[in-house]
Amino acid sequence: MTQHSPDETGPRRSVREPFFYHPPFHGAGNPSTDEQGTAPPSFALRADVGGPYAFSSPDTPGMPTPSAYTAWDFMPSGWTRVEDEKRQQELRSTIRIEPTPGAPFIAVPPRRYAAPAGFEAVTQLEHARLGVVTPQMKRVAEREGHLTPEQVRAEVAAGRMIIPANRVHLSYKLDPICIGRAGRTKINANLGASPVSSNVNEEIEKLNWAVRWGASTAMDLSTGGNLNKCREAIIRASTVPIGTVPIYSMIIGRRLEDLTHEIILAEIENQARQGVDYMTVHAGLLREHLPFVKDRLIGIVSRGGSLLAKWMLDHDRQNPMYELWDEICDILRRYDVAFSIGDGLRPGGLADATDEAQLRELETLGELTERAWARGVQVMIEGPGHIPFDQIEYNMKIARRLCHGAPFYVLGPLVTDVFPGYDHITSCIGATAAAYHGAAMLCYVTPKEHLGLPKKDDVKQGCIAYKIAAHAADVALGIPGARDWDDDLTRARAALNWEKHFELSFDPETARALHDEDLDVDTDFCAMCGHDWCAVRISKEIQAFASGKDEAYAPGDPKVSAALTGEQKRILEERGVLSPEEIHRLASKTKEAMSVESDEATERRSDEGKARAGSSSSAGGADAEPPSKPACHSDYVPEPEEARRVQEQHME
Ligand code: SF4
Repeated sequence: MTQHSPDETGPRRSVREPFFYHPPFHGAGNPSTDEQGTAPPSFALRADVGGPYAFSSPDTPGMPTPSAYTAWDFMPSGWTRVEDEKRQQELRSTIRIEPTPGAPFIAVPPRRYAAPAGFEAVTQLEHARLGVVTPQMKRVAEREGHLTPEQVRAEVAAGRMIIPANRVHLSYKLDPICIGRAGRTKINANLGASPVSSNVNEEIEKLNWAVRWGASTAMDLSTGGNLNKCREAIIRASTVPIGTVPIYSMIIGRRLEDLTHEIILAEIENQARQGVDYMTVHAGLLREHLPFVKDRLIGIVSRGGSLLAKWMLDHDRQNPMYELWDEICDILRRYDVAFSIGDGLRPGGLADATDEAQLRELETLGELTERAWARGVQVMIEGPGHIPFDQIEYNMKIARRLCHGAPFYVLGPLVTDVFPGYDHITSCIGATAAAYHGAAMLCYVTPKEHLGLPKKDDVKQGCIAYKIAAHAADVALGIPGARDWDDDLTRARAALNWEKHFELSFDPETARALHDEDLDVDTDFCAMCGHDWCAVRISKEIQAFASGKDEAYAPGDPKVSAALTGEQKRILEERGVLSPEEIHRLASKTKEAMSVESDEATERRSDEGKARAGSSSSAGGADAEPPSKPACHSDYVPEPEEARRVQEQHME
């Protein structure tokens, strides 16, 4: 920083203060297992698995502190606390307490309760309260890596983690996951036929596609076609937990006004029996909240919320889901279906965010959480929606307070309203902040949000945007091992090992296609800077830099990449940068074509390159000589003139 007063005529005077390198550490560890690289530890809070913070951002002044209560404070009647010192010792011995410097501090309160005589535990929550580690908890610990089965049990018992695993779905192909801030951030993909587009096979295909692109759970939000058949097929085919919003099925084929308590309970039982793992029930939107909505710019944007609001006005009665809460809890308990308590009053635009309607409903969600825990049912809470970036932390932390740390499952949130067609991006920004400040699961938003039913590619784009958000938050929170994947890719990048670079990429097909669009040779530069300006290559030549010289990542000789796969070809066709002939050339390489190039062929390709430089559309062609051995300017091609010629040929 320099200052220069207006009447000074002499040289500028520096008032720079000495710089002290004191990053704002709060005790979190380095998210890389081996602490590779030079980055300091995470700036997040010290890990508190077993406590209310789990993995958390530091609280900005003014943020609500966590609740003093957990699910242990809302026990079913008749349960009694067991003071079993021997068991407490056993539990303590399974808990890691600061195993290595900088590793998370683990403080699991080893509590246990005894159920009344004749009680049979059904839900994961009930087992956890009884001190039982279920096979599903073991599987979750295996998948999380940084948690022990005992820690998973303790988190489930405290209500800060759920394992949505309906007993019926477990008998099919379900591979259990956890949702909770002590675990890694999860993402959900919404599927479902609409009245204008419905096909069971298409929905199964979309499910598999979403799982392929990283969805941890999927919600079947069908509102058209044969809902029962579609749901059954999805559950049977799915390895990930399936969620639903049962009110959609309740009003198919009937007028909303005709919805009765009996119909509600029957449909919830039907879906629980089918194997649904978690259900969104909008029970927190009460009649007395409705006046708070009238001045909103966009009213109620939740489908379930708007239907129930209309029902309440039509019948001049309280929300039936709220009135039936205890009965619904009992149904969900029988199958171990988890609640995803719906936020029917979530804001639908920045102008309505964090308003009284939203917060009053959230308070009711806290009350419903306590009642569900007292009946042995697992709970997560749904959250907004559309929130300005500065309000995201408050929204996460007020939910943590009012709902006693129950996992928070948020839709986005979008941080601006003016980019329809790009809402996977506007919301992925909000989702990253939400996960960093406490959300445990992020419901994806696709480019089709607000515009139409997502198609296959929209599902992919939504999933990828949300995997980015979830992973970025896990790294920032200092979750042990979360950065290992990044470090491996960085090593491959430093070594200019393209094969490994693509193998480690989340979407290898796209990464490879984009690389080969400009340069179908794996060598020690890419088309972005070219050989002479490739900083990574130059760094490799500097002896002092060890990066890029790791033997495990050594790239081997430069080589022409393999022919494009069908998917890579499709990606390049859609981009429309290369001519069909050029794409055909990249897609039709054969083993022979990749063998040593004769001088004559090299000459011909060089001429083609020059021609292409003059006319971008005339390069290659179906009959063009296929590429073969590259002779790029590289560490392996010391002759500068030859190298320059080949570089020109490949990068015109
Ligand atoms: S050419 Fe540029 S973008 Fe490509 S690897 Fe080298 S430094 Fe990275």
